[in-house]
Amino acid sequence: MQAAPGLGEQRVDASTGNPEPEPVPWQALPVLSEQQCRDVELVLAYAAPILDKRQTSRLLKEVSAVHPLPAQPHLKRVRPSRRAGPHALEMLLCLAEPAAGARSLAELLPQPSVDPRGLGQPFLVPVPARPPLTRGQFEEARAYWPTSFHEDRQVTRALAGRLFSAQERSAMQAHMERAVWAARQAAARGLRAVGAVVVDPSSGRVLATGHDCSSRARPLLHATMVCIDLVAQGQGRGAYDLRPFPACSFAGAGAPQGVRVGSVRKLDEDGDVCADSLPYVCTGYDLYVTREPCAMCAMALVHSRVQRVFYGAPSPDGALGTRFRIHARPDLNHRFQVFRGVLEAQCRRLDPGS
Ligand SMILES: [Zn+2]
Repeated sequence: MQAAPGLGEQRVDASTGNPEPEPVPWQALPVLSEQQCRDVELVLAYAAPILDKRQTSRLLKEVSAVHPLPAQPHLKRVRPSRRAGPHALEMLLCLAEPAAGARSLAELLPQPSVDPRGLGQPFLVPVPARPPLTRGQFEEARAYWPTSFHEDRQVTRALAGRLFSAQERSAMQAHMERAVWAARQAAARGLRAVGAVVVDPSSGRVLATGHDCSSRARPLLHATMVCIDLVAQGQGRGAYDLRPFPACSFAGAGAPQGVRVGSVRKLDEDGDVCADSLPYVCTGYDLYVTREPCAMCAMALVHSRVQRVFYGAPSPDGALGTRFRIHARPDLNHRFQVFRGVLEAQCRRLDPGS
């Protein structure tokens, strides 16, 4: 049976008869928090060889009781020795001061709480300061000292580019193609070629399509700001007059509005729902934007409680991965997921000057 033409179709180069290479597919990669991205941080610790293996469990109990290492629950206490020598195991004793020097067992282990019988001369060793959050961090960390790792499978799949099904990817591509179309409409009017689309992922419905409308007179009308305002206009709110820009459009309140499952409602100080009981503008919604948003737009996305942002190409002043990671800050009261790379090549060509 012949495969249907389309995505799976393989073209043949007429001159050589060889299959043409597949076009480079785009990949949506998560933009993780700073904690998830950073290199493994190391601290110095003292360890000692276990000279008498039969004492291992007693030493483990006594040393852990006097030096519990509460901030390093990920560190295993005993590892196979890496040194050439007769002793097969080494035990982690305690953390060291940054400018630490050589110490004796008597200095490190209070007696009689610990009977140091069976341990050899302590030595300094760098160990990972924090639990690893990603598999990459885990691989790096355990090169220093054996480390436990509670894998977040969602993050691992995301980092491997396997987070989205073929069906989800095709929907994502269609939404980004719409954002690219909007960016081209902007370029045709002499505006910055940045486009954006807001989608309700529960229905796949496009709620707003917009492009950069900024000018000297209205410098803040970036594509993301335009789109948030268009969603608000669809809810009977909004502030900008975007009628001069026909490619900027919103879906009216035809679909079920108001109460959405899981919506966040703005509470007043008594905990009652405000008179204006609509949820925040973008609660539960996805934004597709051809360029990584700037700090102003990223904060507007925090305020409007967007759920996920997909962008095509990074921006030099971007605030969702490049300069800042505003979506993943523990000190802000809303966090959202960000993925970069959707139709990256097309998006990069749109507005290369920025
Ligand atoms: Zn912006």
